[in-house]
Amino acid sequence: MELLTNTNHGLYCPQADVYIDPWKRVKKALITHGHSDHARPGHQQYLCHTKSVAILKHRLGKAITVQGVDYNECIRINGVQFSFHPAGHIIGSCQIRVEYKGEVWVITGDYKTQDDGVCTPYEVVQCHTMITECTFGLPVFRWEAQEKVAKNINAWCLENERNGETSLIYAYSLGKAQRVHALLEEGIAQVYTHPTVYKTNEVLLEQHLFDRTSICFDKDHFPKKGGIIIAPVAFSRSNWVKKNRKLQEAMVSGWMQMRGTRRRQGLDQGFVLSDHADWKGLLMAVKESKAERVIATHGYQDVFAKYCTELGLQGETYDTAFEGETVDV
Ligand SMILES: [Zn+2]
Ligand SMILES: [Zn+2]
Repeated sequence: MELLTNTNHGLYCPQADVYIDPWKRVKKALITHGHSDHARPGHQQYLCHTKSVAILKHRLGKAITVQGVDYNECIRINGVQFSFHPAGHIIGSCQIRVEYKGEVWVITGDYKTQDDGVCTPYEVVQCHTMITECTFGLPVFRWEAQEKVAKNINAWCLENERNGETSLIYAYSLGKAQRVHALLEEGIAQVYTHPTVYKTNEVLLEQHLFDRTSICFDKDHFPKKGGIIIAPVAFSRSNWVKKNRKLQEAMVSGWMQMRGTRRRQGLDQGFVLSDHADWKGLLMAVKESKAERVIATHGYQDVFAKYCTELGLQGETYDTAFEGETVDV
């Protein structure tokens, strides 16, 4: 019996009778982070990092039964040892280490190896078997240094401000929105956030996990001239956006590196910035984990597993229901 298996409910540890980021309802779920493809509703019990507790309650309802665990804290369930380690993906994101009778597995969840300055940076966790995400598991995906992207974003916002135009930045409400906000130089323009982003920020501000403030965008509060709005992509279909001619729209995503994505989305600008590891980051993570067996999932798993095999590792794939960093969220 394997320590972890891929079932139709999700990754399962039979010895401990727990699931990791299950996509169907289960009794006990260990959650790597708060994104909706990993933290789904309906489980009887949730176990996640302490920083994710408020996020899970905010997204799944206050009534959920959730227990918070610190980084590196050991939890024993039926003889199996579980611990959570920083994944550098978003605030509270974890890799989960599973150890039983000397055998160690690591489930990365979503991760990036670049330090974004907002969440706890990725930590190397050594293991025998690594289940790694590979959302951007193709050699074409190579991220530039965050400072460089930040410079471009700020220059773009400043230019729009000078032209009396509003900069509208599309970013995930949890993770990317805070990261982009933190990268904005203060004083360029007033920052507004879409209510979804604003409410997420409030939860994080309350927990002292984020410290930037903004004006909540609504029918009474919106930029009349200039300003910056951070909003989820769905906002692009709103009447306000459709009617407003003094807008410059940009998306911040790893997918902006794919040629044509920005144009197809009808955007004025695209910034390549991802909360997932790029090709080099994935390979570095695999190498440093010292894993002999690599199970790729959540992305370009066939390409990535094949490459791992070429490196002399045991490369395999799991099909999962994780959605990755989609453009249309
Ligand atoms: Zn995620
Ligand atoms: Zn994911």
